Amino acid sequence: MRDNPNNKSQWQPATMTIHAGKHADEHGALVAPLYQTATFAFANTAQGSARFAGEEGGYIYSRLGNPTIDQLEQRVAALEGYPAAAASATGMGAVSAAMLAFLQQGDHVVVADAIYGCSFALFSHLFRKFGISVDFVDMTDPANVQAAMQPNTKMVFIETPANPHLKVIDIAAVSAIAKQRQARVIVDNTFMTPLLQQPRKQGADIVIHSATKYLNGHGDVVAGVICASQEDIELIKATTLKDMGATMSPHDAWLILRGLKTLDVRMERHCKNAQVIAEFLQQHPHVREVYYPGLPGHPAQALLGTQMQGAGAVIAFELEGNIDDARNMLDSLQLITIAVSLGDAETLIQHPASMTHSPYTPEARAKAGISDTLIRIAVGLEAVTDIQNDLAQALERTFATSTNTEKQGETLTYG
Ligand code: PLP
Repeated sequence: MRDNPNNKSQWQPATMTIHAGKHADEHGALVAPLYQTATFAFANTAQGSARFAGEEGGYIYSRLGNPTIDQLEQRVAALEGYPAAAASATGMGAVSAAMLAFLQQGDHVVVADAIYGCSFALFSHLFRKFGISVDFVDMTDPANVQAAMQPNTKMVFIETPANPHLKVIDIAAVSAIAKQRQARVIVDNTFMTPLLQQPRKQGADIVIHSATKYLNGHGDVVAGVICASQEDIELIKATTLKDMGATMSPHDAWLILRGLKTLDVRMERHCKNAQVIAEFLQQHPHVREVYYPGLPGHPAQALLGTQMQGAGAVIAFELEGNIDDARNMLDSLQLITIAVSLGDAETLIQHPASMTHSPYTPEARAKAGISDTLIRIAVGLEAVTDIQNDLAQALERTFATSTNTEKQGETLTYG
């Protein structure tokens, strides 16, 4: 590739999503080729042993490194503002590889109380099984983090906005507390993407993504990425990723590189659509509460424009009625798909209590405020009027037939 006269480090994020990590191709292919190979041939035994000894650069085997995966790692690292990144097979592969590389028996971790269900299961079951103790705290008040820190606290895990209520955590405030104890701060930035939030600026040591979501954006890949310092990434790659083996496939890396090129335009549309849907839900007579950082009065408003450059496109709302009403409402949808995940072109809706957050115990669900009538919608890229009309007809149908007598007799009007 011809040298770009611009200073790459000053590129805008939208430019980085297309160009960062680009490397030369001998044929001049615009799109970097997919290196769909498990292993790499050595010219001779001397070269093979030199590569294994680390005396010579170059590829050995795709679990240890691959040019397509390297390119993706460089692009995401540039977007998040870290020197390096490591791609993983899934978002959970990123969470577990990034954490376990730095933890051992006897260590303690402080974790945000409302997080993705499988992260909760990993910390509350598997970590404990290996002698790593975990405290879940409400990090919306950083004083709770201060109170939970122990001499053996090695890591502090944040998800913000937090699944599924969109609770927002002040990363800078929590990072400052963790730094007093030399604990590493790790942020799950899946809901925001680096275009809306760069946790490194607030002091995070490590950022992880479920690249399954917005980074890829097309619902056809399950993947993860870890961003951190060169030293931390080398350690993660050489230990938990290499030996536990949750590394990314080159084909998935190639698809995510393609998806990333439209991240900027997709996020703009996602956020615009979500704002309209959140406002529609908020005025709806059968919706009791809407959780969306873009709504006036949401606690996240204080961090919008500083920590967060946008409100994202995930909305949670509390329906009136009971679990049957919640289920009927989802079953009445005609356009919107009942599915977990987020960040796809399609609008997806799910019932956290029985789906993403079912790994929580009923007590933990109650403590985290995940009721039977809480619904999460990940607003997609369709025409927003079609999304809104579908929600309107499903709500109308549900409450026209609801056995919940409180609702009888109410007249609904839909704009
Ligand atoms: N983090 C968040 C916030 C998520 O929503 C998810 C999945 O939904 C994950 C991590 C796990 O990612 P994956 O499904 O790619 O393993």
